[in-house]
Amino acid sequence: MLNLENILVSGYHFTRDQYELKSKFMLMNSALVIIFLFVGTLTILLSVREEYVFASYNGIYLSLDLFFIYLLRRSQENYKLILPIFPIVSIALVAVAITKYPTEQIRFTWFLVIIIFSFFLGGRKLGLAITALILCTILGLEYIVDTSLDTYTLTLAIVILLIGTTVVNLYEQRELDTRQKLYDINSKLEEKVKKEIQKRILVYQKSNLELLDSANKLQRQKDAFEHLAHYDMLTGLPNRIFFNDRLKHSIDKAQRVNKKLAILFFDLDNFKEINDSLGHHIGDEVLKVVAKRLQKNIRQSDTLARLGGDEFTLLLEDLNDMYKVGEIAQKLIQILGKVMLIKQHELYVSVSIGVSIYPVDGEDVESLLKCADSAMYSAKKEGNNLFHFYKHEMTEQAIERVSLETSMRQGLQRNEFVVYYQPIIDANTNTLVGMEALLRWQHPKLGLLSPDKFIHIAESSSIIIEIGEKVLDIVSDQLILWEKQGFSPPCVSVNLSVKQLRHKGLVSKIENILDKTHFKKDWLQLEITEGYAMQQFGQAIMVLKRLRRLGVTLAIDDFGTGYSSLSYLKKLPVNRLKIDKTFINDIPGDQEDEALVHAIVSMAQSMHLGIVAEGVETKEQEVFLLGMGCHIMQGYLYYKPMEADKILVIFNNLK
Ligand code: C2E
Ligand code: CA
Ligand code: CA
Repeated sequence: MLNLENILVSGYHFTRDQYELKSKFMLMNSALVIIFLFVGTLTILLSVREEYVFASYNGIYLSLDLFFIYLLRRSQENYKLILPIFPIVSIALVAVAITKYPTEQIRFTWFLVIIIFSFFLGGRKLGLAITALILCTILGLEYIVDTSLDTYTLTLAIVILLIGTTVVNLYEQRELDTRQKLYDINSKLEEKVKKEIQKRILVYQKSNLELLDSANKLQRQKDAFEHLAHYDMLTGLPNRIFFNDRLKHSIDKAQRVNKKLAILFFDLDNFKEINDSLGHHIGDEVLKVVAKRLQKNIRQSDTLARLGGDEFTLLLEDLNDMYKVGEIAQKLIQILGKVMLIKQHELYVSVSIGVSIYPVDGEDVESLLKCADSAMYSAKKEGNNLFHFYKHEMTEQAIERVSLETSMRQGLQRNEFVVYYQPIIDANTNTLVGMEALLRWQHPKLGLLSPDKFIHIAESSSIIIEIGEKVLDIVSDQLILWEKQGFSPPCVSVNLSVKQLRHKGLVSKIENILDKTHFKKDWLQLEITEGYAMQQFGQAIMVLKRLRRLGVTLAIDDFGTGYSSLSYLKKLPVNRLKIDKTFINDIPGDQEDEALVHAIVSMAQSMHLGIVAEGVETKEQEVFLLGMGCHIMQGYLYYKPMEADKILVIFNNLK
């Protein structure tokens, strides 16, 4: 700021002394030139009149003048040097002129010239002093040597001198006034410029402040964005981006100091059920409580993050003892397992944890997270509320899983999926009462695959929805064909997976099929697992009721393996129970199973539900079941699942 001020002012500013010096300097310059011209003309005249002696004096004076002019033009500094020398030289010349060349006019003219220029150059005081000095010199000379100077000439000279003095005085006064005015103007200008500068400085300062303010605002916005980008809105925990970044740094650090890290991957086991049955707002609250509980029970140096959904990760640094990781995981499982009170709901959350260790399981963010994820997956598979450390085979399983899923997708496109049918018969009358549609995969390399080879993998991804729809399509096309061939089966059972039941499009899909086939409504039976019906009771009831309204019948598959409560069962709009094969296997003989089958059959009878025994392989089993009152059977004793065209033969036999 100061620099700016200086630059602006210096252009206008010079002092009073500088003014004076400048004008005197210019005066001296012009005086010398005039004297030079005057003396020059005089010298020429003298030379013409052949007065060479005096002309030569003048010549010296001329060259001196030239030299002075030269010096003055070179630099202003020389003014001070020339100022005293010039009058001395001039006086000396006058003295010489008067004594050596006593022509009256010339003497007089010289006299005047010197005096006038003394006034001009030196000012009034110096002019008077020089005049007095010259007068004294002349009078002195007059007195010593008779120069025959008359009084008249002298008086005239003095009068001229006085007039000259007054004129010079006036001139000086005018000069001074002008200078003062110039100086005033200069000062005013300077003042104005200063004010202007001050004003501008203020404006600059203000805009500077504004700039600073908006810069601050921008910074605040940037901070907010940064927060949004790095934190999860719901729980306030770091998000995936932040966590990955942190993990990367920690890996670098751990590598330098040769330490280990542990990554814990959390996945809530029953979050989906909570969300589906109680709504998202409760689900959100659960996530918040989980985040809070975890945060409260870890060290400050540990990093807890929410990756999304019900997935959380925890990074443990500075690990000396790997056993500690297991302890921590166990402790966190217990803490999360405690009851949560959310809006009058008493909720229990269980969690599966997968653990991966740096550098044992991986050396970069991606592989460590992948390993922790696989470990979590394996913990989940083994049952809920567990933690698993990562083992190498897990990735192989994961790779297999992915490749199988890919070939399933291809299989769907290439129509590699086929449906086998297993007859269900009434053992009392030996008639066909229905059949179950069972999926097979005609794999190009592995041959015919039964569902247990691929269905659980399909169920862990969304592909099960497409496969399920495919089964329904195949079955309905088959029914249309059978109808054309003059065969109409009493009822076909189709298995539905849990994911299909949760899928919104299911009801309309069934509706479309019923429209397409124009069959009696009860030709289609849908089999759902007991687990689904019980775990998602609220939702299950709604979906099942809608399906029932379409006219299809419903059966609970693998009955006995779940933990159905009788009161729940009563509320379900189902028509049939299918006793799981595992209870049939050891009857007769196994008393426990016998009692269980007995209980199931009598319960079904009391509730007016149909009952089917699955996996009947022996005559003894048949006899026992008939004795118990269960006469609808499905099993190898009668028929194995078979291709559609073979069914026609059986139909003709059984009809
Ligand atoms: P599930 O619904 O319990 O089907 C009965 C299974 O028992 C069938 O196995 C059938 O072949 C077998 N089975 C029937 N009678 C006997 C017998 O006397 N002895 C023995 N050892 N086994 C018998 P499969 O066809 O291998 O199907 C296995 C499971 O795959 C099915 O169990 C069902 O849960 C699932 N599944 C089959 N098809 C589909 C489908 O289209 N969609 C879905 N979501 N699941 C399907
Ligand atoms: Ca079934
Ligand atoms: Ca079954």
